[in-house]
Amino acid sequence: MEIYKTYKFRMYPSDSIKKKLDSFLGTTRFIYNYYLNAKEKNNNLKFSDMKKDLKRLQEENTWLKDIDGSILRTAIDNLERGYERYYNKLSKKPKFKKYSSNQIYRTPCLRGEYKGKKYQTIKLDLERRVIKLPKLDEIEIKGYKKLTKLDCNIINATVKRIAHKYYLYLLVSEEINLPKFCPNYIVGLDLGVKDLVITSNGEKFKKLDFKREERKLKGLNKWLSRSQIGSKNRLKIINKIEVVNEKIKNMRKFYNHLITNKILEANDIIAIETLKVKEMIEKGKNHLAKFIVNSNLSELIKILKYKSKWQNKRIYEIDTYYPSSQICSHCKRRNRELKDLNIRSWECTECHFVNDRDINASINILDEGMKLYLKDLRCELKAS
Ligand SMILES: [Zn+2]
Repeated sequence: MEIYKTYKFRMYPSDSIKKKLDSFLGTTRFIYNYYLNAKEKNNNLKFSDMKKDLKRLQEENTWLKDIDGSILRTAIDNLERGYERYYNKLSKKPKFKKYSSNQIYRTPCLRGEYKGKKYQTIKLDLERRVIKLPKLDEIEIKGYKKLTKLDCNIINATVKRIAHKYYLYLLVSEEINLPKFCPNYIVGLDLGVKDLVITSNGEKFKKLDFKREERKLKGLNKWLSRSQIGSKNRLKIINKIEVVNEKIKNMRKFYNHLITNKILEANDIIAIETLKVKEMIEKGKNHLAKFIVNSNLSELIKILKYKSKWQNKRIYEIDTYYPSSQICSHCKRRNRELKDLNIRSWECTECHFVNDRDINASINILDEGMKLYLKDLRCELKAS
């Protein structure tokens, strides 16, 4: 099976390459804002026409000719994706990118043949620890000490600058052999309010606490609003904000990988509730919605899904409207009067079993997942 993976390296560019990288990054922002402005003036403007218009823009602004051309097109792709998400009500309308916005550019790895010689636009040399990107000299990289060879196809490279540091993200496709599916262990997961994930085995993964970071951000933002636009001090504050945001992001990512690894190591079939993030954002005032967006649950599920594919494990998603919190996992009677999410535990009116709200829900989700798996199994047996 072909899988996709991202490798993250720190880059150590020379001063002259840094200058070029900065101009590439700035150009991405320039192109994005330029066509966002055009789109706001004329909503009928097509993204494909923007790409055709690039040639004109390059003629008018000759400095654009020194920039890797793919970057210009991917900036428009990003804008298109932003609008798609907005039209699908998955996010807010695209905004103009400020200097403080994420500094990022992406370039695809193109392959071809010239005078009988094969070439590709991105070249990774792990023995010498250098990367060659289009229109740039080789750059020293660090990361993955033990990795000496990559048997894969590079798809694209993303360059990111965070507080004066440069990072490289290489998206690659790799061919892997799938392990055999052995349905030995099954688990149900409840995505909670108080805890992030609660398993039907009673294991609880707490929500990460970002109070310290949030306090820091609040203070920095206050300083930012008081600082003079264009001043050195302002740039310093922006850098600090970037560092904190990156820290939060990395902590979340690390934690999501930790949880998903733990769950997948111990289980072969996983039942989860379908997250309807779209609906949650629309009901923005609801605190549950805020929580779900904040805690990055959809990211966690995304990781869980692709990892389970790589390991040939199965995920079953249960309908969101299945009343997993109201049903007593002991006798399966539905206790309709239970609506308050703050009730931590409750006694079933039928069998008098005292249910922990979250564990009870995850056991119900497990049972529903089991039903779906058995249905699949019957189909597979019939087909064979
Ligand atoms: Zn009961």
